[in-house]
Amino acid sequence: MIFGSHVSIRNGYLGAAKRAASYDASAYQYFPKNPRSLTIKEFDNHDAEACKAYCQEHQLQSIAHTPYPTSLTPSKDKEELTIASLLNDLEIANACGSIGVVVHYGSQISETDPLASYHLMLYTLNTVLSRWKGETLILLENNAGTKGALGTTFEELVQIRNLCEFPEKIGFCLDTCHAFASGLWNGENTEEFFKKGQELNYFDHLKAIHLNNSKYPSGSKKDRHANIFKNNGFIKEEHLKEMVTSPILKEVPFILETPDDEGITHQEEISMLQERWGQ
Ligand SMILES: [Zn+2]
Repeated sequence: MIFGSHVSIRNGYLGAAKRAASYDASAYQYFPKNPRSLTIKEFDNHDAEACKAYCQEHQLQSIAHTPYPTSLTPSKDKEELTIASLLNDLEIANACGSIGVVVHYGSQISETDPLASYHLMLYTLNTVLSRWKGETLILLENNAGTKGALGTTFEELVQIRNLCEFPEKIGFCLDTCHAFASGLWNGENTEEFFKKGQELNYFDHLKAIHLNNSKYPSGSKKDRHANIFKNNGFIKEEHLKEMVTSPILKEVPFILETPDDEGITHQEEISMLQERWGQ
């Protein structure tokens, strides 16, 4: 089993990889740059290459997460900056040897034209990926449904990938909290959830999982992550276990984005995951 967590780049990209290794993790996620801004980062390529070499040596897998303001459905004045920022994230992640860069599915931009968001999302993805020659993928993450229902079903995730000019440069990242909050997965429908995803070939392109519990019930559409093993989340441990130990997800890295300051650390959660559900 491949378990890990989000880690800080406070000590650079190599420092992030070393921190993950110190947690005994086999995967991790990081922000390639300031998570609050789309400002382009002139990054230290030596540090990124050292990170890549370290990860290869220690069999560590990584993914990067785009800054919070990143949107595949940006407003007109943010369009160029968003495209440049996504390419910057891809460059950094590629230099660090990361599998992919996680970006949330777009949100509803028009009350009257239901297809407007899809057109813009395809435009953004096609523009970025037509300029992208590296190996690192864009990983589309399912939404919790906070700002409208866009990106909460397997159909939408798979369809955008299929309609894009460069589907081979796109994979998926499944967030278990978002899937639960949106109602895609309610803990009780795991078999149906896997069956549907398999029928649509979603899992063939699933490259990472954000393993989170949820502070709100299924269908609440609220995006608040809870710890896996603290009984403060609405997803039952038995249901999380069923998900994590599914043979369909055996090769996929599970990465915690759980609170690290609410009584249990990532390091502790990773070691509990390994003890209980690792093999
Ligand atoms: Zn997530």
